[in-house]
Amino acid sequence: MKTAIQSLQNVKAYIRPIDFYRNELPAMPPPRGGGWRDGGLCPFHPDKQAGSFRVNLETGAFICFSCGTKGGDIIAYIQQRDGLSFPEAVQKLSTEWGL
Ligand SMILES: [Zn+2]
Repeated sequence: MKTAIQSLQNVKAYIRPIDFYRNELPAMPPPRGGGWRDGGLCPFHPDKQAGSFRVNLETGAFICFSCGTKGGDIIAYIQQRDGLSFPEAVQKLSTEWGL
């Protein structure tokens, strides 16, 4: 049984933001390099036109200039998308990524 701290360390160590967002955002254009990139359609509001949602493929931070949703890493992304607490989001990521 992993502790919460171990799960958090595993999430941070093994889930690369670039892999996470490729998986989560099928509409994201193929990224060329890291840093801030066009994330395609925003998952936080009914988005019909890509262009306002950006993800940082190194840190996992995200921001939508249309609806204003933002966060600093992929854990914050899962928290906000699924309405989870921090530990719940860490657990979900650990499970989904087989950590
Ligand atoms: Zn949005």
